[in-house]
Amino acid sequence: MLDVDWAERWMHTAAADVAAARDDLTELDRLIGDGDHGVNLDRGLRAVAERLGDPAIAPRETVGQVLRLAATTLMSTVGGAAGPLYGTALLRASKVTDRAVLDASGVVALLDAALEGIVARGKAASGEKTMVDAWQPAAEAAERVAGTTDDVGDTWRAAADAAEAGARATIPWVATKGRASYLGERSAGTEDPGARSTAIVLAAAVRALQG
Ligand code: ADP
Ligand code: MG
Ligand code: MG
Repeated sequence: MLDVDWAERWMHTAAADVAAARDDLTELDRLIGDGDHGVNLDRGLRAVAERLGDPAIAPRETVGQVLRLAATTLMSTVGGAAGPLYGTALLRASKVTDRAVLDASGVVALLDAALEGIVARGKAASGEKTMVDAWQPAAEAAERVAGTTDDVGDTWRAAADAAEAGARATIPWVATKGRASYLGERSAGTEDPGARSTAIVLAAAVRALQG
């Protein structure tokens, strides 16, 4: 069930999975950026997990309240491009998830809002080799699946699988947004770090379903 406990587990799982992938993410960003993406996001999600672990902080009666806490924490602890992008994504998502439990259409709303936030903030279109290339197929896949089933697990799995495929698809591309675009043709051959971290964060939402 996609309740408040799930939302908290999602953030804790994302923090653990990003911590495990920190060096790989940083290596991707070293190849086509400035080598800080894994460190940045690990620091931010660690702070999110810490704040969620403190019962004195903020009410948590809706999924949206959990996501809002995560968003504001990421915005204040993650520098660079990714902090404001992930922060805006989760802040927008929090505004459409002010419910105790989400159904499949709630997952679609969450992902659509997150994608809109990223695009509003970063102005990247799909195919520019950014995290949009993982979030957009995820939102589209969720919408497709939620049109045929009410199963929240199926909906999230479709989104996570699409994000994974989307991240991998960025490998041969030339970046035209973000720091990697400074490299021009030399950005081809490396997976976009933000698309990779998005695949990890969305896979964590599925893992968190398992209680
Ligand atoms: P910085 O580039 O400031 O060091 P990070 O390394 O933390 O920030 O994050 C880099 C990631 O941010 C990129 O891999 C890309 O996915 C994402 N990104 C950068 N610029 C944009 C943008 N304009 N729109 C969407 N995503 C972007
Ligand atoms: Mg960087
Ligand atoms: Mg940086």
